[in-house]
Amino acid sequence: MAPFVSTALPEGRPKKIERPPWHGTCLYQHETSPWFEESLRLATENRRKVAVPPGHTAKSLEEALLDLANILGQEWVKLNDVPLIDGDYHAVPLSHDSYHILDPGDFVASAVCWPANTEEVSKTVVWANKWKVPIWPLSIGRNLGYGGSAPRVRGSVVLDLGRRMNKVLNVDVENAVCLIEPGVQYVTLYEYLQSIGVGNDLWIDVPDLPGGSVMGNALDRGVGYTPYGDHWAHHIGMEVVTPTGEIIRTGMGSMEGSECWQLFRYGFGPHQDGIFTQSNFGIVTKMGMELLPNPGGVRVFMAAFPKYADLHEAIEVIRPLMIRKVIGNVPMVRLGLQDASLYKTRDDFELDERGVVKPESAQKVIEELNTGAWVFYAALYGPDEVTLAKYQYIQEQFHRRIPNTKFYQREDVPENHYLHNYARFTTGIPTWRELDRMKWIPNAAHLFFAPLSANNGKDAGRQANMFRARMEEYGFNYLGTFFIGTRAMHHVISFMYNRKDVAEKKKALACIRALIADAASIGVGEYRTHLALQDQVAKTYNWNNGAIMKFNEQLKDALDPNGILQPGRSGIWPKDYRGKGFELWGGEERSNLVENQDGLNLTLTP
Ligand SMILES: Cc1cc2nc3c(=O)[nH]c(=O)nc-3n(C[C@H](O)[C@H](O)[C@H](O)COP(=O)(O)OP(=O)(O)OC[C@H]3O[C@@H](n4cnc5c(N)ncnc54)[C@H](O)[C@@H]3O)c2cc1C
Repeated sequence: MAPFVSTALPEGRPKKIERPPWHGTCLYQHETSPWFEESLRLATENRRKVAVPPGHTAKSLEEALLDLANILGQEWVKLNDVPLIDGDYHAVPLSHDSYHILDPGDFVASAVCWPANTEEVSKTVVWANKWKVPIWPLSIGRNLGYGGSAPRVRGSVVLDLGRRMNKVLNVDVENAVCLIEPGVQYVTLYEYLQSIGVGNDLWIDVPDLPGGSVMGNALDRGVGYTPYGDHWAHHIGMEVVTPTGEIIRTGMGSMEGSECWQLFRYGFGPHQDGIFTQSNFGIVTKMGMELLPNPGGVRVFMAAFPKYADLHEAIEVIRPLMIRKVIGNVPMVRLGLQDASLYKTRDDFELDERGVVKPESAQKVIEELNTGAWVFYAALYGPDEVTLAKYQYIQEQFHRRIPNTKFYQREDVPENHYLHNYARFTTGIPTWRELDRMKWIPNAAHLFFAPLSANNGKDAGRQANMFRARMEEYGFNYLGTFFIGTRAMHHVISFMYNRKDVAEKKKALACIRALIADAASIGVGEYRTHLALQDQVAKTYNWNNGAIMKFNEQLKDALDPNGILQPGRSGIWPKDYRGKGFELWGGEERSNLVENQDGLNLTLTP
């Protein structure tokens, strides 16, 4: 293998990240996208009817949207009557959830609008209150696996903030912090830092795929791979439009003239920031994010554990390494088969009668790839001598408890090995490598089941066994990864399903609902979930008769008396919606309310 250049050095850090010309989110397919012709044809043959939100008729919605077009400008409000083309990760449609798990026409907006700045967001919120139209803000709309760009209530108006509010407003190099708008993607922030000459000194944290919004991901409390992998934990100060249209700044930003908005997280009195994550209490228009100063080197490695049962011991070894900060990043342990799905498709394996990969077939591929039943990826930071000492210490710790553990560094693996991509992830360089997984099955979509696990072998082991058995019962392979924090782990399990196969989608939905119930029965809760499942997951957070939801509802009713902002997000419904059939508990393919709204033919002719 050719010698590789360290991703911690300027020569290992590309200035630009390649992507197709159609990379973006769109209501109408981009002219260069492979779906453009199809979208034109379908649009001509069969223009879709517009979904009308609860409490509206086509006529009243039309009046409301004309009013919005007057406020924002006609070109910045468009009806969502386009064909529901799923596209791909690079061409994410704003028309619907492209990884739909219900009918694709279920969670759809009536229209999309593009405010230009905070004031226009505020005006849009005031407009929504006036007309009582539900609205749904997006930063980019790539929340794939959790609902994509779709709103929870059919007929809501989507605010695509990313299109026009996409600037890096400030980079404070000395303090390693930046201030961004919603539309700043990981890939664009990385390139921006390169363009101003600080891309080697200041690193960002990237998740698996860098097309998402730095802000949107943090607001959904997403995770990445560097020491700043807990994205929400590294935000610092926000500007928020409340559900009645006021504009507030949090932390030190609430003081006129303060220079510490992006330097000190708290201000005076209650700390509000957390209530704007995974919630429907405000629209964030600016956010500070900490940047990681280049720590002076990186050493990435992979450890492969031979037996499935080794998971317990592996996590027991990892916990003290995390708590004592021997390992500096958010490392991961993933199932060998999940790792193999980067290189192979399901057709490369022998399946049993349920459609599950046979263990002996998985083992054969694992041996061919020279990995293990579980694989561990981690990064150590600092000068070479420091990381070498740590690496040797870590090897000793594993060998004591799992003697057959195999270790690999970049020089030990072939060029197409994920470890080289991992070196990019852990130094904040965007890569599209995770898209290789989409080749696993035709028309692949992801649905994530993402419970939290204590950082110990017992919890990890019982979860893996329990969820694997349930998934196999439904004919799905358990494809699990533990993203390891200091004291807890995100156990992210990917359902890969064929989104064109209605029966398979139904099965995936039934299975994930069973998993949520299984998890709750042993006190395990999800950290994040798909729109269709948020009512169910919220209900599992049930201590003291669900006191937390009562509190959330009090906040919702006080902050958003008209219930216009993201009704239903995280299972929080405004008073006018509660108990009226909007909640999705399972068993339904589409809610009754959705059926009633079909068939309205709206035209917007300003
Ligand atoms: C193969 C694959 C791998 C993935 N890997 C990861 C991973 O490693 N880590 C990870 O975290 N996720 C991962 N995801 C999930 C998802 O793609 C990312 O989290 C993505 O960053 C979320 O989309 P977004 O950034 O465009 O956010 P958006 O879709 O813009 O927003 C996410 C949510 O926050 C709300 N929101 C957005 N902006 C605002 C705002 N300004 N004010 C108020 N609310 C707002 C939205 O309503 C939405 O509910 C993965 C998905 C796939 C398919």
